[in-house]
Amino acid sequence: MAISIKSPQEIEYMREAGRLLALVHQTMAQELKPGMSTYQIDKIGEEAIRSFKCIPSFLNYNGFPASICISVNDVIIHGIPSKKQYVKEGDIVSLDAGLIYHGYHADAARTLAVGEISEEARKLIEATERSFFEGIKFAVAGGFLHDISAGVENYIKPFGYGIVREYTGHGVGSHLHEDPAIPNYKPIGRGPKLRAGMTLAVEPMINIGTHRIKQLDDGWTVKTADGSLSAHYENTILITDGEPEILTLLKA
Ligand code: MG
Repeated sequence: MAISIKSPQEIEYMREAGRLLALVHQTMAQELKPGMSTYQIDKIGEEAIRSFKCIPSFLNYNGFPASICISVNDVIIHGIPSKKQYVKEGDIVSLDAGLIYHGYHADAARTLAVGEISEEARKLIEATERSFFEGIKFAVAGGFLHDISAGVENYIKPFGYGIVREYTGHGVGSHLHEDPAIPNYKPIGRGPKLRAGMTLAVEPMINIGTHRIKQLDDGWTVKTADGSLSAHYENTILITDGEPEILTLLKA
């Protein structure tokens, strides 16, 4: 499938979707406290999405039962919110959220600290976030997709962290997951050429220990195989002829 190029109207919808999603993340970050259940966090996110008259992208997506993927500590992605799971001081919590505005998706993830966290956890979160920005230095029209991947990998390598391979970033637009897949390590070849108007979700998933994963029997939850902590950082970006526009960050 060809990588879609968004029209100016579509880009306007994506921009607004991204701005609203950034606000949803801001709300969840402000409300997150030790002792909350992951179910409560999901409801805060869902209500924020609906307050903007938007639709949660993930709710019922392939049967996912909630609006926000909430992945605590050694859970990498796709954690299912639960009334029985509480976050506590020292945990790290990855919140992955998406919303639909006028038929267009924005997709973004953050790993947040619950209260005071360990030095090693803080470093992991920072490096994961930084690797996104290192990758998107190569996200420019005329550049090549896998240079983004290499940018992420080259930044992470010296830390000795594991880069998750089974899950990747992706194109995003009228569908939550569009072509192309965007690995966080360098595949063979430079990949497709980037063009202005492409909208991409770039999302490094980084583990302190092994890159290997373990899929739980619930069909969703993905954990690190060795139980080490994992962080996730994602934004939806727009390729332009200059620097990429990050759609899911609030403008300063
Ligand atoms: Mg995504």
